[in-house]
Amino acid sequence: MNVPAPIAPLVDQFGRVHNNLRISVTDRCNIRCFYCMPADKVQFLPRKDLLTFEEISRFVAVMAPFGVNKLRLTGGEPLVRNDLPTLVAMLVAIPGIEDISLTTNGILLAEQAQALYDAGLRRLNVSLDALDPQKFHEITRREGYEQVLAGIEAARNVGFDPIKINAVSIRGMTESEIVPFGHFARESGCEVRFIEYMPLDADNRWERDKVLFASEIIDVLRREIGPLNPMGTQSPHAPATDYEFADGRGKIGVIPSVSQPFCDQCNRFRLTADGKLRNCLFSLDETDIKQLLRSDAGDSVIEQTVRDSLAQKWVGHQINSADFVQPGRPMHSIGG
Ligand code: SAM
Ligand code: SF4
Repeated sequence: MNVPAPIAPLVDQFGRVHNNLRISVTDRCNIRCFYCMPADKVQFLPRKDLLTFEEISRFVAVMAPFGVNKLRLTGGEPLVRNDLPTLVAMLVAIPGIEDISLTTNGILLAEQAQALYDAGLRRLNVSLDALDPQKFHEITRREGYEQVLAGIEAARNVGFDPIKINAVSIRGMTESEIVPFGHFARESGCEVRFIEYMPLDADNRWERDKVLFASEIIDVLRREIGPLNPMGTQSPHAPATDYEFADGRGKIGVIPSVSQPFCDQCNRFRLTADGKLRNCLFSLDETDIKQLLRSDAGDSVIEQTVRDSLAQKWVGHQINSADFVQPGRPMHSIGG
């Protein structure tokens, strides 16, 4: 479909154009990664506070004419939301939406992969921090390792391409996973993306010393497996820097959110499962879109509200500053 250029893109005061919307569909999850959720006694949103599929679709349809063309569905664990393929199909049908992807922990993927593909989804990120089952359990505090591997396999058989693996890198914990993941990338055809651990955990236990830096990971892979060349083909807005092994077998990405922030190229904004707009993962305030969607507010009011929020967006996150304040919501409640 030929899509006309946006009439008035969503630009912030630093000239960053926002075309990439991350939509959280739930704050619930079937595992409990320590860097994202508390171990137990989690207060989840009541059902009535979640945006309906119709509300999400309306918001996207209002935004698309202003250049929003990339969507990522996330959570919490998006596959625990009932009937997610129906939402995918609704979003695929919105004129102007060119790219929809999903980030999942993979536990329910084997049973849903075909329906998601049939609904029009093609791109997947599956989170898996460890290839060692015991380490997986240590991080997630739940069972499910075999299901994640089965989910990746099922998604591949259904035809998903690309499938990227997201692995959070934590000093003192995941060093032993670097080389196995390097081999996994070479053998499976899935790009493995190492993400620096960010201060978004529920228990406020993040410390800078626990961040395993992207540069260290690349050094280990070069030393232990072989030369890695930067690919240099991705969009300037991509958070990951991608590399390929020199023999052409295996892609590695690193997301150096802490050591080398990419905020100056940010094109993303977020809608939480309860309908709050966040102009940054680390913002300390939010804008209530749900109450607009549940009132008789017209599309132009919603558009203006988004523009007002983006106008307040900071130049960048403050993780590396002494003044950094961790957001009140942990990652599962924001939507990663
Ligand atoms: N449940 C899904 C999953 O795990 O893929 C989607 C939501 S999860 C919040 C999205 C991504 O954020 C996952 O790849 C997860 O590893 C990552 N993430 C969560 N907390 C993080 C943290 N404190 N630092 C870095 N990445 C984090
Ligand atoms: Fe669940 Fe994803 Fe958070 Fe892990 S990172 S607890 S899978 S929402």
